[in-house]
This record gives sequence, C-alpha cells and structure tokens, in this order.
Amino acid sequence: MERLRLHTGAGMPAIGFGTWQLEGGAETVRAALEAGYRMIDTSGDYGTQPAVGRAIRESDIPRAQVFLVTKVEEDEDGLEATRDRLDDLGLDYADLVLIHRPPRHGAGSDIWEGLIQAKRQGLTRDIGVSNYTTDQIEEITEATGERPVVNQVEWSPFGYTREMLEFCRSNGIVIQAYSPLTRGRRLDDHTLQGIGVRHGKSSAQVLLRWNIQLGTSPLPKASDREHILENFTVFDFELSHEEMDVLNGLNERYSALAGLAYA
Ligand code: NAP
Repeated sequence: MERLRLHTGAGMPAIGFGTWQLEGGAETVRAALEAGYRMIDTSGDYGTQPAVGRAIRESDIPRAQVFLVTKVEEDEDGLEATRDRLDDLGLDYADLVLIHRPPRHGAGSDIWEGLIQAKRQGLTRDIGVSNYTTDQIEEITEATGERPVVNQVEWSPFGYTREMLEFCRSNGIVIQAYSPLTRGRRLDDHTLQGIGVRHGKSSAQVLLRWNIQLGTSPLPKASDREHILENFTVFDFELSHEEMDVLNGLNERYSALAGLAYA
C-alpha cells in the first residue's frame, strides 16, 4: 500500500475508509480492514466511533499498522474533546485528530492550542484541520507556530480548487479528500465512464485513482462489501497525463453537500 509522508515525518496510507452513515457497525469496519484498508476516518458526531474502535481492537492487525483519524468540533475544548473521542473509541491514542470545521468567527486558534496539548500528551500522533480555507490555516499556524499536517476537504475532479492544491503542496500539508465519490451522484458521468472502460475500471475507481495520482488521499465510504473491495483495487492501473488533464478539466466547483467550504 502506498503511503504519504506527513511533514512531521509519519507515514499515512494513501487511501482511507470513510465511516459517516456507515451501516453494519464493526462488521463493516472489519471487512474494510480485511480488504486491506489501513486508515479509518471517523468523528464523534458520526456515531461510528465505538464500532471503529471495536474493529481495531479485535483485529489481528497490530494497532501501529492502523491509522485512525477522528475529529473534534469547533465549539469544544481541543484537549478535553480528544480525551472524550478516545474514551468513545476505546483506544489509547489516535493517529490524527482534526478540527472538524472552523468556528463561525476566527480560525479556532484556541481549539488548535488544545490539540497541540493533546499531541504533547501522546493522545494523538498528529493534528490537522478540516474544511479550512488557506487564510484560516495561516492564522492558526501564525498564532501557535504549529502547522496542520492535513486539511480534510470535499474533493473530486468535479469540485476542487487549484489554490488549495498549490497552497497545501507548498506548505507540506496533505489534502484528505472527503466525499471523493461525489456521494455516488456523478458516477454516471460519460467522461468518467469512458476513461474507466479503457482501463477495465469503474467510475468510482477512476475518481479514487485521480486522487492518488494527484497526491491527495481519498476517504471513500462504502457499506456494500463489493464497493469496499472495488474501492481498494486502485493500485493496479495508472491514468495517463492526458487522462489526468481531462479529469482536471471537469472542475465546476461541484459539491455533493452544502458547497465547497474552503473555496
Ligand atoms: P462518498 O465516499 O463520496 O460516497 C459514499 C456513497 O457512495 C455511498 O452511498 C456508497 O454506497 C457509494 N459507493 C461507495 N463505493 C461505491 C462504488 N464503488 N460504486 C458505486 N457506489 C459506491 O461520500 P461520503 O461518505 O460523504 O465521504 C466519505 C467519507 O469522508 C465519509 O464517510 C467521512 O468519513 C468523510 N467526510 C468528512 C467530512 C468532513 O466534514 N470532514 C464530510 C463528509 C464526509 P454504499 O455505502 O451502499 O456502499
């Protein structure tokens, strides 16, 4: 499995498993681990933390080989909320804790300070943000001297920004792509399907491969066992430069949710 290097030195799997609205509880998370996923994304407000924690604890895979991502909310104390997430998960530490979204006012430097403390106390290996603009990332970095390792944002060929890509590349921040399958809404796009047919792959696999070749890390969610396997089978083909250009050109700042929060 390919890994991405975080600016703190840790390795992070190139693809992760999303668990928002996941069905089937720990059984489904177990199926993802068995399929080969080594990064699991959850959050206190998904209701899936207990199932994720249980699947990780009961797995034969050593804890150190699983990269667990969870989140704290913008109105919480970063340190206390991290402790609370670990209790809910039943785990000793997280690999990455994110501020789920910026507060309504300001960038949340106080919450960020709490996450820095959580990292110092060994409750999490790394810390990052989600749904942040470039300005908000700069604000918390300048306020504390600590740069996020990741910005988790809605990201697909239909909806992304060059500005965020270039900002993150030049600051050593990895983009984690949420709703990378457009929540299923654009899988019937003809361009996507055409590229898939050429490689004997599905639209979903093309979307995930686009992320991997861009150096961004997709977090597909799937409750269906076939989808779980299909989405992990994306390391045995390569999109050409031309195909990447075509996919890049599909951008219309599309969002399957409430708009691209960072754009
Ligand atoms: P997504 O991964 O883009 O799409 C999930 C949907 O696609 C499900 O309906 C799933 O169906 C379907 N699907 C999965 N694989 C498929 C395949 N191979 N072919 C056809 N359909 C397929 O959407 P998402 O859940 O919004 O995003 C992924 C993860 O990102 C979340 O689970 C969560 O962990 C994270 N996220 C984070 C934020 C944030 O604010 N930080 C926001 C949204 C999401 P089945 O389930 O039936 O298989």
